Amino acid sequence: MKKLANFINGEYVEPKAGRYLDGFNPATGEVYAQIPDSDSTDVHAAVAAAKVAFPAWSETPAAERALIMNRIADGIERRLEEFARAESLDQGKPIWLARTVEVPRAVANFRFFAGAILHHEERVMDMDRTALNYTVRDPMGVAALISPWNLPLLLYSWKVAPAIAVGNTVVSKPSELTPLTASLMGEVYNEAGLPPGVANIVFGLGLRAGTPLTTHPDVPLISFTGGTATGTAITQAAAPGQKKVSLELGGKNAALIFEDANLAECVPTTIRSSFQNQGEICLCNSRIFVQRKIYKNFLDEFVKQAQALRVGDPADDKTMVGPLVSAAHRDKVISYIQLARQEGGEIICGGGAPKFAGALAKGYFVNPTVIIGLPAKCRVMQEEIFGPVVTITPFDTEEEAIALANNTQYGLSGSVWTSDLKRAHRVARAVHAGTIWVNTWMLRDLRVPFGGVKASGVGREGGEHSLDFYTELKTICVKL
Ligand code: NAD
Repeated sequence: MKKLANFINGEYVEPKAGRYLDGFNPATGEVYAQIPDSDSTDVHAAVAAAKVAFPAWSETPAAERALIMNRIADGIERRLEEFARAESLDQGKPIWLARTVEVPRAVANFRFFAGAILHHEERVMDMDRTALNYTVRDPMGVAALISPWNLPLLLYSWKVAPAIAVGNTVVSKPSELTPLTASLMGEVYNEAGLPPGVANIVFGLGLRAGTPLTTHPDVPLISFTGGTATGTAITQAAAPGQKKVSLELGGKNAALIFEDANLAECVPTTIRSSFQNQGEICLCNSRIFVQRKIYKNFLDEFVKQAQALRVGDPADDKTMVGPLVSAAHRDKVISYIQLARQEGGEIICGGGAPKFAGALAKGYFVNPTVIIGLPAKCRVMQEEIFGPVVTITPFDTEEEAIALANNTQYGLSGSVWTSDLKRAHRVARAVHAGTIWVNTWMLRDLRVPFGGVKASGVGREGGEHSLDFYTELKTICVKL
């Protein structure tokens, strides 16, 4: 049994109150770890360490910070297999996905921001030779970084890398469901020579550990990724302190598939965008709209490919769909499948849990599920399910497709499939979302702005937008 520890001021420490939470292996339902159930005492210790470390770290030359960040990236890369195993065990994702996509992305996050701070430029605004205005950026102090369970290391590093690159110190609170890869990061930081107190990690529950972090008077900024309801609670908690907040929240993303789409590319990509990581990616397409002329063809091919996805042990390289992250989340996803039946939907693929003998018998598996025949306003079409469940609905016109895509409180991302260039641009502009992919899905460049509109979030991170969020921009006006 692994017993995890918080990482505060460069040392692994037990939670002061000595309380722990059970960590479950989603593939077997067995308890495999004890996770610190930290409280405000632990959070205050972490914030105090980060506050003490801030002056020296923020004054450290950018080249030196970049060197350490590159060593952090090297440290993760050296232990790639260990990180991939930990991520797969903890979260349930197929190990090949952690090995080929998510752990490499964590490495890339540190390398990218190590480079970004060396190439960053600021602006000078010349007022007709009477004055020069120039801008400078300063790190803000101790950043609170709160991340969810679906892409644990990827999202943890997406926040820590830019935050410390620009000279902040941080206290992270990873999800209580998936602490394992973050718990390895302390070793990587120490090996890389990151000064104690620059990156602290406190494990525990949202209310007991997260709230004292977001409300701490010495924390001026919060980056949060997670559910929309939690984002609202964090905004409210942060308001009295006038904290800078970035919120990356839930989604109900649409794929719009027009009759001129290249189905040979569209179907397998939409299978990925529906079921990769068990559908537990905020960018997954959960609502698929298909132009009526190709609806039947698309549906037949999509269902055939969905049925062929191998559900099973995430440690097996052949597995395409692993277990969901927790029993509670599995139950929530299954409840939406039941609700779909009550709302008039027809389940034409999946719809329940596979039966496994042996070690996997108590795992939290759900088969890839396809639902048709639902009205656009029903709960299954409106609420975030965040599992391997999609709805497929026909449409007739471009206007109808856009209206269906926008018929949601969310606006994180979307995909448009067409070979008509003009239509691609038109529809991409008309769908209300932070990111639209045309004839692809989840092709991510670290320089692009990332975030959502409506209930999917506030603010943008990524590339220079992360540098912007994690710094305070100051104008200096010099009269000539
Ligand atoms: P969640 O909101 O339940 O938890 C996220 C994190 O917030 C966890 O670390 C949790 O402990 C913490 N937390 C909970 N309540 C808190 C509080 N009151 N104060 C401070 N911290 C608190 O989300 P989840 O279930 O872990 O993750 C799934 C959600 O994340 C989905 O809605 C998904 O769409 C979203 N998500 C969004 C993005 C994006 O980029 N927009 C990316 C990944 C996941």
